[in-house]
Amino acid sequence: MALIVKKFGGSSLATPTLIMHLAKRVSADIKNGNKVVVVVSAMGKTTNDFMAMAKQIAGQPEEREMDMLLTAGERISMSLFSMALNSLKIKAYSFTGSQVGIITTGEHTNAKILSVKGERLLSALNDGITPIIAGFQGVSNSKEITTLGRGGSDTTAVALSAFLNADRCEIFTDVDGVFTVDPRINSNAKLINEISYDEMLVMAHLGSKVLHPRSVEIAQRYNIKLLVKPSFNEGDGTMITNAENIESVKVRSISSRQNLALINFKTADGNIVNLMKRLNKANVKIELFITKSNDSISVVVDQEKLNELLSCTEDICTSVSINNDIAIISLVGAGVSTDTEVLEKILAITEKYSNDVFGFFTDKIVLSIVTKQPYVEKISNEAAKAFNLLG
Ligand code: ADP
Ligand code: ASP
Ligand code: MG
Repeated sequence: MALIVKKFGGSSLATPTLIMHLAKRVSADIKNGNKVVVVVSAMGKTTNDFMAMAKQIAGQPEEREMDMLLTAGERISMSLFSMALNSLKIKAYSFTGSQVGIITTGEHTNAKILSVKGERLLSALNDGITPIIAGFQGVSNSKEITTLGRGGSDTTAVALSAFLNADRCEIFTDVDGVFTVDPRINSNAKLINEISYDEMLVMAHLGSKVLHPRSVEIAQRYNIKLLVKPSFNEGDGTMITNAENIESVKVRSISSRQNLALINFKTADGNIVNLMKRLNKANVKIELFITKSNDSISVVVDQEKLNELLSCTEDICTSVSINNDIAIISLVGAGVSTDTEVLEKILAITEKYSNDVFGFFTDKIVLSIVTKQPYVEKISNEAAKAFNLLG
C-alpha cells in the first residue's frame, strides 16, 4: 500500500464530467489498496474570471480581498470532487487550506508556506476518509486567508507530501508531462522522461508553468518523488529526480515568459540609486535589469506592475520609454552560455529579427533573449529545430 498525493490542475477539472472522470481514477487507486490525498485547483479559468470581476469593480483591488475571492475557486472544486468520490462509494471530506492547518506568511497573493499542522488531515486518513484539499491557499498566523501565487496548488501538494512523508506526489495536468518546449508552442516538442530538480527549477522560474517553482524547491529539499502526469490518458509522464542529466546535452529545453514590459528610465538628477530605491519601495519583482549608465537604467517587469512602477518614479525621471509587448525566451542547458557553436546558431536565428531583439543574457546554464512577444513562437521553434528538441 502506498500513500499518494494527487494534484489536479484547473483545465483537468474544468467540467463536472471531467471531475467525475478523475474521481473514478482516484477511486480505482483506492480500491487497489492505496491511500490517496487529493489536492485541487479551481475549475477551468475560474481564477482568471474572478480576477477580471475584481478589476471591473476596482482598478487595484485590496490584496486581502483578492485572497478572499480567489480562494473561493478551489472551494468549489474541492466540494464537487468530494461529492464525486462519495457517489462512487468512497468516503471523502473536503477541507480548505486553513482547515488542514497550512500556515503561511501574511503576504497576501504571494504567501509562503511556513508549516503544515495537518491534524484534520491525519485524522481523516486514520478514519479511512479520503481528504480533498483546496490547493493554493493557507492561513497566516494572524488568521488571515492567504494565497500562494498563481499556480500555487502544486506547492500545496508538495508541502502536504512532505508533511505526510508520502510515497510520491503526482501532479496531473492537461499535457503529457514536462516537454523540451511548451507543447502549446510546438506540438512536436519531446516529452522528457526524467529531469533533475535543478533543471526543473530553472525551467519553472523561466516560465515553464507546468510546475510552480516553489513546489520544485520543496520537493528537492525533502527529497520527494515528484511526477508530472497526464489527466487525460494513462501515460507515465515525467519524473523529477536527483539525476544529473543537465550535463549530457548542450541545449536541453526552451522556456519563455510573456506579458512583460521593458521600461527605460532616465533620471532628472542623475541619481540611479535613488531611482532604484523607489523601485525597491514599490516591492516590484524585476525580471531583468538590463543596462546601467550614470543616469539611466532599463528594467523588464510584468505588465501588471507597469502603472505602479511609473507612478512611484514619475517625479524623479526626465524621460521614460515603454515597450509593452515584451517576452523573454530562455534556453536551458550545459552549453548555452559558453559553447560558441550554440551561440553562433542562436545569433544566426535571431539575426533577421535583430531590430526587435533587445539583448542576450547568459548565466551558467541559461541563455535569455529579450524580444517582442510576436517572436516567441518563431524564435522558440527555430531554436528547437536547430538544437534537436523536436520529435
Ligand atoms: P494546471 O492547470 O494543470 O496547473 P498549468 O496551465 O499551470 O496547468 O500548467 C500546464 C501548462 O504548462 C501546459 O498546458 C503547457 O502549456 C504549459 N507548459 C509550459 N512549458 C511547458 C513544458 N516545458 N512542458 C510542459 N508544459 C509546459
Ligand atoms: N487556481 C490557481 C491559479 O489559477 C492556483 C493553481 O491553479 O494552482 O493560479
Ligand atoms: Mg498549474
